[in-house]
Amino acid sequence: MAEEIISRNFIENEIDKDLAEGVYDHVCTRFPPEPNGYLHIGHAKSILLNYGLSKEYNGEFHMRFDDTNPTKEKTEFVDSIKADIEWLGADWGEHLYFASDYFDRMYEVALVLIKKGKAYVSDLSPEQIREYRGTLTEPGKEDPNASKSVEENLAEFEDMKNGKYEDGQRVLRARIDMKSPNINMRDPILYRVAHLTHHNTGDKWCIYPMYDFAHPLEDAFEGITHSICTLEFEDHRPLYDWVVRECGMFENPPRQIEFAKLYLTNVVTGKRYIKKLVEEGIVDGWDDPRLVSIAGLKRRGYTPESIQKFVELCGVSKANSSTDYAMLEYCIREDLKTRVSRMMAVLDPVELVIDNYPDDKTEMLEVPNNLENEALGSREVPFSKHLFIERDDFMEEPVKKYFRMFPGNEVRLMNAYFVTCTSCEKDENGNVTRIHCTYDPESRGGNSPDGRKVKGTIHWVSAETAGDVTVRLYENIVDEEKGVYNEDGSLNLNPDSLKVCSAKVEPSLLEAKPLSSYQFVRNGFFTTDMHDSKEGVPVFNRIVSLKSSFKLPK
Ligand code: ATP
Ligand code: MG
Repeated sequence: MAEEIISRNFIENEIDKDLAEGVYDHVCTRFPPEPNGYLHIGHAKSILLNYGLSKEYNGEFHMRFDDTNPTKEKTEFVDSIKADIEWLGADWGEHLYFASDYFDRMYEVALVLIKKGKAYVSDLSPEQIREYRGTLTEPGKEDPNASKSVEENLAEFEDMKNGKYEDGQRVLRARIDMKSPNINMRDPILYRVAHLTHHNTGDKWCIYPMYDFAHPLEDAFEGITHSICTLEFEDHRPLYDWVVRECGMFENPPRQIEFAKLYLTNVVTGKRYIKKLVEEGIVDGWDDPRLVSIAGLKRRGYTPESIQKFVELCGVSKANSSTDYAMLEYCIREDLKTRVSRMMAVLDPVELVIDNYPDDKTEMLEVPNNLENEALGSREVPFSKHLFIERDDFMEEPVKKYFRMFPGNEVRLMNAYFVTCTSCEKDENGNVTRIHCTYDPESRGGNSPDGRKVKGTIHWVSAETAGDVTVRLYENIVDEEKGVYNEDGSLNLNPDSLKVCSAKVEPSLLEAKPLSSYQFVRNGFFTTDMHDSKEGVPVFNRIVSLKSSFKLPK
């Protein structure tokens, strides 16, 4: 029997190797966001990758807030990040941590390094530090403070902690190698003075650890085995290893593995840019359905399953590349295709009158909810003499290959009857105000009574019972054609990214609860907006249209 070939990503290969060689006997991963904004689709990749590995190897997954930088952090973001991760389906169980809870231990490690002669307090100004650090082509210069005694350094570091210095007056530096070809190793800063109130520790500290010192320690304290991060940290890895090794406390220190960030074509992912759109009021908050923040995707109607599928299809790579946004759309279409009911909604309505249909009659037609999923059952849809159809389903003078409604042409009203268009009425500007047709009573259900065929099938809503709802149609927030940025670096916004229209829908849609999704036949997948819908007055967001030229990559 042929063996199933499962292709493993390079991180799995590394982990397999570590386990085989006995470097670790278990796997522990983490997701360490800074609580300074909402998460986006790129973070989803990191979350699902780390969580997925912990599941695959029967290990642990830690949720850790990397809140060592008090200027930008907010409790609002802590709450939103937790909600987003839960929604995505990554379960951290008991393992919720805050890096700021380790400030005391980090301070102790700094003392260990000072005592070993591996760290010193420097009084160089930020400008001098930059200057002494050298460049890619020139080595750095020794910091005159590097030769101070351990006692002096201990005393001064304590003074730093006790608030004797202003911001920027002193830093603690690692003593590594000012001539290292890797600039990160040229006596990097471990601690800085910053008189700031921290959301967790309040005013307890006026010194804060730098990322490159704090992060490896956080991982090591928690017993993380594989610290997975994105490629820009590759050059920081020697420093990561230096920190966990030099503090001498860990038998099996964690190892850092880098992978390429997720980039999407024509979409802004960076936290910084999303923040700008929110702060400048260009979008309706962090969960605006046009954003690829996780909250925005949820509000737009994406499901956790569709995002999981997307991340899976993206794979894990060492090389930066951009993924087609259309692949994300493909994933939600595939997910909803058989899962949701197919309803009739007319987005740009014009009236249709069936002249030979009885005036006061309303009949209830039995309509299957989804032909590809019988389990969704069926519903009754009212049908009567006055209907609404899409304005562009009628042409008084049809163009070539137009098979929908035009005078003299017979079409199918979906699930209802065959009708033949007879004429139309127009206003003084020549706009069509009403279309007339006759129906064939023998074609009930939309079935041909005698084998005659029609080429067009159009959807409709019965006028008297139709619900009026607001529908929002979206396009990318940045202009696809011209690129994401203007020459001056500003965002090249698409003025048509949000279009609001008033639609006529089947009456049962008025009962739709927030975040319920449907297919509106021929118009796309829609979900009820979770904020702006009121009881009996839903607002529908278009998740995605039905068609795409996107093909799955081989
Ligand atoms: P941004 O670059 O959008 O500002 P960030 O890297 O500053 O995000 P963090 O909170 O520091 O955000 O990130 C938490 C984790 O998410 C990190 O491990 C980071 O590497 C990962 N991550 C961030 N952006 C992406 C992305 N586009 N693709 C994959 N992983 C990402
Ligand atoms: Mg970051």
